[in-house]
Amino acid sequence: MIDIHTHLHPERLALAIRRWFRENSNWDLKHPFDKESVVDVLRSNNVERFVFCSYAHKPGIARSINLWLAQTARAIDRYGLPLFTVHLDDPNFLDDAKRAIDDGCIGLKVHEDVQSLQINDPRFEEVFVEIEKIGGFVLAHMGPVPWRLEPEVGVHRVEQVLAKHPKLNLVLAHMGTPDTQKYLDILGQNEGLYLDTTMAFTNVNGLSHVLDVDAIERNSAKILFGTDYPNIPYVYDFEPNVLKSLGLSDDALRAILGENARLLLKPFL
Ligand SMILES: [Zn+2]
Repeated sequence: MIDIHTHLHPERLALAIRRWFRENSNWDLKHPFDKESVVDVLRSNNVERFVFCSYAHKPGIARSINLWLAQTARAIDRYGLPLFTVHLDDPNFLDDAKRAIDDGCIGLKVHEDVQSLQINDPRFEEVFVEIEKIGGFVLAHMGPVPWRLEPEVGVHRVEQVLAKHPKLNLVLAHMGTPDTQKYLDILGQNEGLYLDTTMAFTNVNGLSHVLDVDAIERNSAKILFGTDYPNIPYVYDFEPNVLKSLGLSDDALRAILGENARLLLKPFL
């Protein structure tokens, strides 16, 4: 398996995120978040490679987070590959992106809600160009899911980005919830558009929903396995086991759990 969506954060940020979940959600987050523990769990679940990210929720911190991410990747011999972060209110955000790429980051994580910004912000355009140059990808958490569902608004933003950057690899986290069905309908016409499975095949309110298994089978070349580990309120193999029980063909399952990610990550493996 390849896990396309995990989190490693600098310790202060990791602690702050855990505190936020304790105060604002009923999620019981118990998995240790230090890199050694995360690597152990992934290895013991037969994960061959993984992608990890953090995010700058305010200006002034992206550069130091990116240095930490790149250093962390080296410390684990690039078993995990890092996505960088930018904050668009930082005056030198494009330079932050270029430095992070030079330092070994393979793409960008955008969290619209936590970062209070939108994927179609024109300031992202030059950053997207840098990512296209290296064949990397953007992992985007669209809107305020799972805390609020705002159907249809995110789709418009994604379509705007794809119209301007048809070659950009854009992975929408959480199966693009709440617009999964709409994205499944347009995946085939958009070469670089993918969905990741993160938390969509679990029992977490706001993210789990009845998914059209036939549409998943048809689009299995465009769906990537991801987990959000270690910030999940259940054991690591819960979601892969649900995926394996859906009745998908062996080929589709193999594609989703690893083959698609291997192709997407090819420039970096
Ligand atoms: Zn995540």
